[in-house]
Amino acid sequence: ALTGHRGWTPVWRDPAPQASYDYVIVGGGGHGLATAYYLAKEFRQARIAVLEKGYLGGGNVGRNTTIIRSNYLLDGNEPFYEFSMKLWEGMEQDFNYNAMVSQRGIINLFHTDAARDAATRRGNAMILHGADAEILDRDQVRAMYPFLNFDNARFPIKGALMQRRGGTARHDAVAWGYARGADMHGVDLIQNCEVTGMRIENGRILGVETSRGFVGAKKVGVAVAGSSSRVMAHAGMRLPIESHVLQAFVSEGLKPLIDGVITFGAGHFYVSQSDKGGLVFGGDIDGYNSYAQRGNLPVIEDVAEGGMALMPIIGRARLLRTWGGVMDMSMDGSPIIDRTHVEGLYFNGGWCYGGFKATPASGWCFAHLLATDRPHETATAYRFDRFLKGLAIDEKGQGPTPN
Ligand code: FAD
Repeated sequence: ALTGHRGWTPVWRDPAPQASYDYVIVGGGGHGLATAYYLAKEFRQARIAVLEKGYLGGGNVGRNTTIIRSNYLLDGNEPFYEFSMKLWEGMEQDFNYNAMVSQRGIINLFHTDAARDAATRRGNAMILHGADAEILDRDQVRAMYPFLNFDNARFPIKGALMQRRGGTARHDAVAWGYARGADMHGVDLIQNCEVTGMRIENGRILGVETSRGFVGAKKVGVAVAGSSSRVMAHAGMRLPIESHVLQAFVSEGLKPLIDGVITFGAGHFYVSQSDKGGLVFGGDIDGYNSYAQRGNLPVIEDVAEGGMALMPIIGRARLLRTWGGVMDMSMDGSPIIDRTHVEGLYFNGGWCYGGFKATPASGWCFAHLLATDRPHETATAYRFDRFLKGLAIDEKGQGPTPN
């Protein structure tokens, strides 16, 4: 079909980098593009560039399993993720682009009485912060997904925590929507432009060295996900972050089977079904540190075992493809949106394997910090010094759960 369409107008410009900008955002993933969009649109700032070493959306924003939700427990997290959920709910109208945001509902299964208590506590915390949450009993879960392994299971399903407003969004379209919106507000989106160094004098950043020359900036915001440690090393920083691969899996197309998102509470496995019919699923990270955007067989076996334990019918589906992305795993599973010791240099990262759902709020809060030098009210806990002060935001099984 594409052969019949020639002469399409690109939806964003392809400008050459200018000598300097007021704001340079490093990284053209979901977070970098959202930051530039909100910086221009909501905070009315001008002379903004996004520098991307490859192509826009080629990183984790286009590699994730597309799950969005705000089912967190801790005070440091839940208001932020609920803010993000509210932004998801208005995003397509805001940037006038179909991102296929689908609030199809997510259930987190529990398999013990203690886990039910924990799920109830989490659900209450969500409701207190204005989110939606319900506890489903075993029969309600069975009515939704009768093919799950209820009867002969090593970990019997006792019920689930459900968030009906959770669901999925088309990940590439999120990047494209923010990119087009940022471009329309005058942001220069510069692809094939790798940041290779930082020019810092007397404790202040003057700009960045790139594969396309020096680009001056009053303020530099870094949002490079799995490359966080490498890029911030240019400023002499060593981050509380390790890089690991996370893999994703898609089966052949099947008839409609799963209309929401299911996460297994007794192992690393979660699954949804794409609009094309493929089962989209994943599990744990590969255990070793790596910058390779592909994983290895032991995790594939582990994910297959989780899938078989939860829904044995998956054993009849053929796997179509797998891929991997590099995660910047912070030491408590929660992100960092903060200033640095270098005047004018700001950092956004440590999203582990859960940063897609955070994309709108991450962009908004980072833009807020860049424009005002104050943290947004929902992101005050995401500071570097929490590791110094012992103020970790450790969700125990939710922040560090893939998806
Ligand atoms: P990216 O898209 O990776 O953007 C960073 C960009 O920085 C890249 O484009 C990169 O090329 C660029 N860059 C790096 N170095 C430089 C440099 N030196 N100069 C210029 N540019 C540079 N999260 C969820 O919430 N739900 C999910 O279901 C989910 N599933 C996942 C499944 C998988 C398999 C993976 C890999 C991730 C998943 N995640 C999920 C996590 C989520 O994708 C990430 O946390 C999030 O996308 C990271 O932010 P980003 O979009 O800005 O990253």
